[in-house]
Amino acid sequence: MIKVLDQETINQIAAGEVVERPSSVVKEIVENAIDAGATAITVEIKEGGLSFIRVTDNGCGIGKEEISTAFLRHATSKLRTADDLLSIASLGFRGEALASIAAVAQVEMITKTKGTLTGIRYEIHGGEEIAMEEIGCPEGTTLLIRNLFYNTPARKKFLKTAMTEGSYIQELVMRLAMSKPHIAMQLIVNGQNKLSTTGNGKLKDVIYQIYGRDVTANLIEIDAMDAHMKITGYIGKPFVNKGNRSFENYFVNGRFMKNSVITKAIEEAYKTFVMVHKFPFTALSIELEPSLLDINVHPTKMEMRYGESDKLYHFVYKVVRDALLQKELIPTVTPDTAKETAAKRVAEIKENLAKPRIEPFEKTRIEQVKKVVEPPKQIVAEASTPKPVMQPVPKPVEPPVQEKVKIPVSEVAEEPVRYEAPVPKKEVYEQETLLLTEEAKPKHRLIGQLFKTYCLIEYENQLFIMDQHAAHEKVMYERLMKKFHNSEIFSQQLMPPMVVTLSPAEADALDRNLNTFEIMGFTVEPFGGNEYVIRAVPEDIFGVPAKEVFTALIASLSDDSGAVTEELFVTKLSTMACKAAIKGNHSLTDREITALVDELMTLENPYNCPHGRPTIIKMSQTEIEKKFKRIQD
Ligand code: ADP
Ligand code: MG
Repeated sequence: MIKVLDQETINQIAAGEVVERPSSVVKEIVENAIDAGATAITVEIKEGGLSFIRVTDNGCGIGKEEISTAFLRHATSKLRTADDLLSIASLGFRGEALASIAAVAQVEMITKTKGTLTGIRYEIHGGEEIAMEEIGCPEGTTLLIRNLFYNTPARKKFLKTAMTEGSYIQELVMRLAMSKPHIAMQLIVNGQNKLSTTGNGKLKDVIYQIYGRDVTANLIEIDAMDAHMKITGYIGKPFVNKGNRSFENYFVNGRFMKNSVITKAIEEAYKTFVMVHKFPFTALSIELEPSLLDINVHPTKMEMRYGESDKLYHFVYKVVRDALLQKELIPTVTPDTAKETAAKRVAEIKENLAKPRIEPFEKTRIEQVKKVVEPPKQIVAEASTPKPVMQPVPKPVEPPVQEKVKIPVSEVAEEPVRYEAPVPKKEVYEQETLLLTEEAKPKHRLIGQLFKTYCLIEYENQLFIMDQHAAHEKVMYERLMKKFHNSEIFSQQLMPPMVVTLSPAEADALDRNLNTFEIMGFTVEPFGGNEYVIRAVPEDIFGVPAKEVFTALIASLSDDSGAVTEELFVTKLSTMACKAAIKGNHSLTDREITALVDELMTLENPYNCPHGRPTIIKMSQTEIEKKFKRIQD
């Protein structure tokens, strides 16, 4: 029998599209608050948002007559006709969120518009109105969502642990905060403050709140536009990277997005600057012509279509690449002793213990307003930079234990945020000293070698520390790359030729890549059975024996399926450069060091070895003097 579904069932089904998990609820409600013109938004969650989500804003509020309508499906104040979709400036427009959330949770709304004497408290459970009454409250809106999915247990089953769901919310709120630096955003998780931004409009300050000192000290500012698009914001120097994409943030017309064109453009631009499987830091705001942008692709509005994706790709790629090429990309080391860190943590633990666990609604609001003028708390996410300062969230009851805290970068996505005591802001905006330039060179003072592994150079109140192995490796890699690009790879005939025996997998790899092998200067022919004869090899392969290079290449290629690109081939070849490069623990004369620096200086990107590790780091005189307590922190 075919029957039309009742409204409650329809709503629950539709809710599934919008409300996938607690973080989708937070996203919709915070976006509503943003659309309502709020300048301060507080998000509070418990149990990963499953039992409790409260979002308070100081926006325009909803009038009494409109509240019930707001909770109806396809009820929106932001759109009148389909044409409006082409110029939509608000984050919401479908009018589905409130109806969807109310269908699968117990929702309470307290709201007051400007100029009215009293506000309204409205309650709706599983789509059913429970209460509507007048109460006294501040202007703005508070939404309280309890027991999400209480009436759809099947959906609840698909959720992850409260901790993981909570981390999704943290990540989301961090991104929303970055997309709106002029809104003061606060996030409280299980009674603990996890994020508060000042709303002063400065993206760099928000990045500092979220990612901390090391990331903020190593940013490159972006500000570019052409006739159709505009990009502003920051990208990280290449050594600020991560094993997953959680550092990649970009906002299209004010909205956090996932878009393969933009992601690809960014990652291509960073290619050769970061290792494979490492992803850069970006916080970019991209403005596109609204009429060419279709964000109405997916109910959660994270996906988009853009009419001129080629132009978009090239613009993003060029802007990011140019920025990377212009800058001297030396990481700044921010020293911090274990003792100092421990002291900070003890202070913070005390502070946390002194704080009330549960803040009543009115108080939260007052705090939120106060927060705007208070000095901010620092929150740090881990970056794979040299970073002695990274610390985990202190557990209020446990004494600090240094060893316990090492979290591998790849696991950070699950627990992205951790606290650090406030740090004076002045350190963040450090001037860049350019070491590897012709003007700077005469002023370099070579101090010498340290541990037979690092070369120390003084220049303009900075101590530069170069890893001789990484630097040499980089030089050799770039030499080879250049030769390859200029088709300057020459073959060297082997006399007598060399016979190698290959396994079936290796023979297959050779077959697939024979063309590339030839371009790279190898001449290889079958010799009957599983034997092959090598008649020529590329010249100048770092002094590594030709047979070793060949067998190592074949072995690593046989792990892959399909043909490798020439570029990848060079990369593989270059990993062998690593073997041939000057190792650590090897004495170098001053002349050898100078030659290395000179050669580094000629490179397009001298600051990372082919594996993406830094070749040079630096420490300022100020940092050193701080450590000796000659000057105050
Ligand atoms: P949409 O955001 O797509 O319009 P929603 O279901 O999210 O749809 O919200 C419905 C309507 O309720 C909005 O169009 C807006 O007018 C109103 N609204 C929702 N949240 C708020 C808020 N925090 N402050 C003021 N108005 C709100
Ligand atoms: Mg909305």
